[in-house]
Amino acid sequence: MAKQFLGKEVVAAVNSRIMADVAALKEKGVTPTLGIVRVGERGDDLSYERGAVKRCETLGVAYEKFLLPADCTQEELMAVIDQVNKNDAIHGVLIFRPLPKHLDEAAVIKALDPEKDVDGITDGSMVGVFAGTNQGFPPCTPQACMEILDYYNVDCTGKKAVVVGRSLVVGKPAAMMLIKKNATVTVCHTRTVDMPSVVKEADIVIVAAGRAGVVDASYVREGQIVIDVGINVNAEGKLCGDVDYASVEPIVEAITPVPGGVGSVTTSVLIGHVVEAAKRKFA
Ligand code: NAP
Repeated sequence: MAKQFLGKEVVAAVNSRIMADVAALKEKGVTPTLGIVRVGERGDDLSYERGAVKRCETLGVAYEKFLLPADCTQEELMAVIDQVNKNDAIHGVLIFRPLPKHLDEAAVIKALDPEKDVDGITDGSMVGVFAGTNQGFPPCTPQACMEILDYYNVDCTGKKAVVVGRSLVVGKPAAMMLIKKNATVTVCHTRTVDMPSVVKEADIVIVAAGRAGVVDASYVREGQIVIDVGINVNAEGKLCGDVDYASVEPIVEAITPVPGGVGSVTTSVLIGHVVEAAKRKFA
């Protein structure tokens, strides 16, 4: 039976770091504050927002919502971005995406102050991840995967790691972060030939394919660490990951469950970035 790498244990450790930083900032009279920019009322945006707001409240971080109707104009949205950029009391900004199709998302991202880019969506933040510098903030989900590996003392040095998925939000930055940890990294995608043998070679596997059960028992072997980033809804309407947990868990050394794995850590990483943004401003 695999060891479960549980999100709640990692969250507790990350949260205690954040709370110490929040207390130090409050002594200086600074309350770290997240600006939440939401266009429309998409169910998954509302659900993520509820999680972020709750985590802010738990950690003593303030938040301010900037809400626009789904049919707002580009000009109205750009005016809000300008407002949050100029507001010194807001340290980090979360913009829910994808934006409605009539809006120019690239222009919105370009307009966001990189110093407030706590969700890691601007070009500046990407440069930070790919160049290994501290510019901007890394995307929260791959950083959550690294927090899990760190918390459970997984030493990546010299290990073979495979990332399934090459999106800019998860797969590519996860690969860069694993390289920074001295792993030897392979990235798989839909054109990868014989993916089961490639994944079986790895000591550490991060799966972010966006398809339920993409990695099953035929992809894994004993001794592997499996981090499942996927969030899908199965035929019975239940949340599940990209890994077929039932067949993989009895084989590997450790695995993150879904729900209860990467997702909850991602929210704390986001709030941690808001606090870090406030610290940088007052350093
Ligand atoms: P995405 O943009 O759709 O990218 C999926 C990637 O997986 C693509 O690179 C695609 O390859 C690859 N892929 C898809 N099917 C594959 C297959 N059968 N074999 C090999 N590669 C395959 O998705 P994403 O935004 O990276 O998200 C990935 C998953 O993570 C989703 O389930 C999403 O819900 C979840 N997610 C979770 C969190 C969290 O906090 N836990 C946050 C963000 C996302 P190609 O490039 O060749 O198309």
